[in-house]
Amino acid sequence: MVVFCFLVDQTRKIKRTKPVAGSCSRCRRGASVADIVTTTRFCYVPICWRSHKAIICTFCGATLKTYS
Ligand SMILES: [Zn+2]
Repeated sequence: MVVFCFLVDQTRKIKRTKPVAGSCSRCRRGASVADIVTTTRFCYVPICWRSHKAIICTFCGATLKTYS
């Protein structure tokens, strides 16, 4: 199963962000709500897409809260 692990990778893409009330706990700047699409690839072929929302900081990249 070790080989299997090397063939699988995940990429995370932020589709769009929208400013939201609240501030980042790290840099104190504005937080944004983002639509994040996670793609799981096997041998570089996408096999699974999953999208979820999260509150992120667009300045330092911190994830402040995730929604499933
Ligand atoms: Zn921040």
